[in-house]
Amino acid sequence: MALGLRLVLFGPPGAGKGTQAQLLHTHFDLAHISSGDLFRRHLGLGTPLGLRAKEYMKRGELVPDDVTIDIILDKVMCIPDDEGFILDGFPRNPNQAHELEKKLITESRDLDKVVHIDVSEPELLRRLGGRYTCRACQAPHAIAPGEEASARTCDKCGGELYQRDDDAPAAVKKRIQVYNDETVPVLGFYRERGVLVEISGDDTVDEVNKRVMAALDA
Ligand code: ADP
Repeated sequence: MALGLRLVLFGPPGAGKGTQAQLLHTHFDLAHISSGDLFRRHLGLGTPLGLRAKEYMKRGELVPDDVTIDIILDKVMCIPDDEGFILDGFPRNPNQAHELEKKLITESRDLDKVVHIDVSEPELLRRLGGRYTCRACQAPHAIAPGEEASARTCDKCGGELYQRDDDAPAAVKKRIQVYNDETVPVLGFYRERGVLVEISGDDTVDEVNKRVMAALDA
């Protein structure tokens, strides 16, 4: 089943999409395309794309489709047919979902599964409030209340941990609102196509990973 699997990981900010995508990437050797990581890399490098995306990201709003769609679809189209991919953070509104579908249809490469990782809002707020990200490899880390983030480095690569601008409380509220208003309608789109699987993400990384794996074998 895994060879060439084409997946979307879907869920609210803080659902753990990036963490699960990384685990699937390692397990199945699928390409991992994270729109948020891509924008953050451009931001760090100060490219024109990064500069354009910066203010939207800081406010917790979506970067406009005219910037986002081409850059992500180009990446998807570069992946060899037999490799498969995990999309994490894209599509994030119905227009992006339509454009992705159009592009995949022209290549006869449909999505196999869209995995919706659902997490309650109080748990999202708790997680995002303590989330620190590695500047070098983008891996997320949970910092407990009272724990000093500056005393820790990245578990994976030893890089510096920092708190993303959009993990500040006002931006977190906005991101959850944008998710509910603009992203949730995409679920109906994939439900109609029969590729949506829904799992609860209100649990440990390992438990959620077991559910993701079970959903993929179904
Ligand atoms: P999270 O899922 O935790 O909100 P991401 O890293 O996926 O974080 O995204 C961070 C920010 O990058 C978003 O709030 C948005 O500004 C921008 N972004 C990421 N993916 C998209 C997308 N598909 N369309 C528009 N903007 C996006």
